[in-house]
Amino acid sequence: MTVNIALTSEHIKEAVKALKSLRPVYKDMLDFYEQIFIAQEDSKSHIQIEPIQISYDIISVKAKDNFPLINISDFVIDTKASKNLLIQICNIVKEMKGDMAVSAQAVLEGIETGKIDPDSLFYSLFEGGASFFEKTATRHKIDKNALAFITYSSIKPSLTICAEQLARYLDKLGEWDKGYCPVCGSLPGLSMFKGEGERFLFCGFCWHKWPSKRLYCPFCENKDSKSLQYFFIEEEKEYRVDLCDECKKYIKTVDTRKTDRYIYPPLELLSTLHLDIKAREMGFEDGMQVLLQV
Ligand SMILES: [Zn+2]
Ligand SMILES: [Zn+2]
Repeated sequence: MTVNIALTSEHIKEAVKALKSLRPVYKDMLDFYEQIFIAQEDSKSHIQIEPIQISYDIISVKAKDNFPLINISDFVIDTKASKNLLIQICNIVKEMKGDMAVSAQAVLEGIETGKIDPDSLFYSLFEGGASFFEKTATRHKIDKNALAFITYSSIKPSLTICAEQLARYLDKLGEWDKGYCPVCGSLPGLSMFKGEGERFLFCGFCWHKWPSKRLYCPFCENKDSKSLQYFFIEEEKEYRVDLCDECKKYIKTVDTRKTDRYIYPPLELLSTLHLDIKAREMGFEDGMQVLLQV
């Protein structure tokens, strides 16, 4: 079976190119995210993070109680690389028209004048520092969602590397049959079928990928086939949207077996907004917090 997951900047470019020809309506958005995702991938090669150490005693206790390996506030981020990426991302966003560009300019000015401390921004995002975050947004006349997007996008490479380092602890444990991320406890943002039809879930925060049951709602753990359904669009057979009648949540699924093009999961999430619209029209809610994805 072909492995068509995009892992490098070149693969991302291929993935974007294929999506642009399939869905030209998303061209501007894809051009924008291509730059963001490539900047993030490039940033990964400069990141230096000491792996978080967890003793096996603690791990076995956590596993017994179905606790994730860490809390979100335990993530380690490379603040130097994240700051460089933040500036790069602001410069990309600045080229867009509208409110996002104004916000990006305000963030850049805040950093240049020392009025915004990027490290505080990074840590406030996962230390429950919502009030600091809101104050910064208000004080600098920055849209809160734009600030959240820019901040999260800047630390995402650190989060994914940290999660990759932590994932080695999971190999020692048995199957994780919970709907939340075994690394950080966040909810999944995307689901995927691979190989022989195995299902995986991707964490909506750290993007860790873990195996999941096929027939399963990760948001309420419903396993009853009578209240689990899905829909797909005839001309886009590589996607389906899984719906749960119990909790009325949905998750989008990419079936990598049904396409040869490169799949970059965060890109698939964004280039399928028409599926979100349809799911919402049917009365379902996105199971993941959408604040950080913009
Ligand atoms: Zn996670
Ligand atoms: Zn459910």
